Amino acid sequence: MKEPLLGKTLKELEDICLENKMPKFNAKQIASWLYKSDVNEICQMTNLSLKTREVLSERYSIGKIPHIKEMESKDATVKYLYKYDETTFVETVIIPDKARQTLCISSQGGCKMNCLFCATGKQGFQRNLTSGEIINFVASLPEKEDLSNIVFMGMGEPLDNFNEVVKAIEILTSQWGYAISPRRITLSTCGILPKLIDFIEKTECHIAISMHNPFHEERLRIMPIEKTYPIEEICNMLRNYNWYAQRRLTFEYILFERENDTYFHAKEISRLLRGLNARVNLIPYNPTPNSPFKGASQERMLQFQEELEKFHLITTIRKSKGEDILAACGLLSTKNLEENSSK
Ligand code: SAH
Repeated sequence: MKEPLLGKTLKELEDICLENKMPKFNAKQIASWLYKSDVNEICQMTNLSLKTREVLSERYSIGKIPHIKEMESKDATVKYLYKYDETTFVETVIIPDKARQTLCISSQGGCKMNCLFCATGKQGFQRNLTSGEIINFVASLPEKEDLSNIVFMGMGEPLDNFNEVVKAIEILTSQWGYAISPRRITLSTCGILPKLIDFIEKTECHIAISMHNPFHEERLRIMPIEKTYPIEEICNMLRNYNWYAQRRLTFEYILFERENDTYFHAKEISRLLRGLNARVNLIPYNPTPNSPFKGASQERMLQFQEELEKFHLITTIRKSKGEDILAACGLLSTKNLEENSSK
């Protein structure tokens, strides 16, 4: 199998040029073909000499992989399914909202974190995606030209695939790459503390932390990661950094009915976030099959928002999108895995 060029950084492309006795400046040209235009074959890279294209084509391919399935929701959210190998089905969702088109991308096939409410966790873990496979979500996206924001909120825990995710972000944000501002990229994590510190220091992307419950014992019951990296320690660490409008810190909070929606939860959230310039994003629960959880009603969301605002917390409510197309994290790919294994 030929090695894909998609997902290579400029430095890696320069090394390829060196190895293949090509001039170093070819690397920038290749990066430009890969990340700024829409070629599918190396032979289309017309500013490289014919000989160079031949040499490259012997060992490499572009590596773009089209989606195998798409589902469009009534609210114009579109979900794409990709098959990266026999057991790795991964998803992206493009969410249009006014002038914005936000792409929600995956970082792993499955996930190891096993959060109780999440469909991806239920499938177990298949493997980490390569930076090429992550970049492919953008490269093969039909709406690529209109893309404005990227969120790492699809399948997987991005900080559990740190190197490939950081490499993909380098390609997305570099001038030789997609040149997307890091202020248009948000990484969502359940909070793998040492990796989170590394990520904050290595990139300028916005950060979203999945809190879902401020109390240790209660969070532990729904998010096993709380055992190793308690949310309180995460908040204490985050206080060492400067959060401002240009670099946003958000805490995600799925509101479950009668689980995490009391006055005491609001008060504890405010204690944890004291001195942190952060906002809370209340998320409606996207029910997954056989789930014991029940999402709070819209009315309860508004009440809880008021409760948080009394503690001077800036709180937003996420609009629920694409419910009719299995848009909850991991649902479409779970469905495909099941269909595949029953064949
Ligand atoms: N592993 C990362 C990214 C996961 S998905 C993380 O934990 O943040 C992005 C967000 O969707 C997380 O906040 C996650 O907790 C949430 N989520 C997972 N399943 C959900 C569901 N069924 N309904 C609503 N939100 C869900």
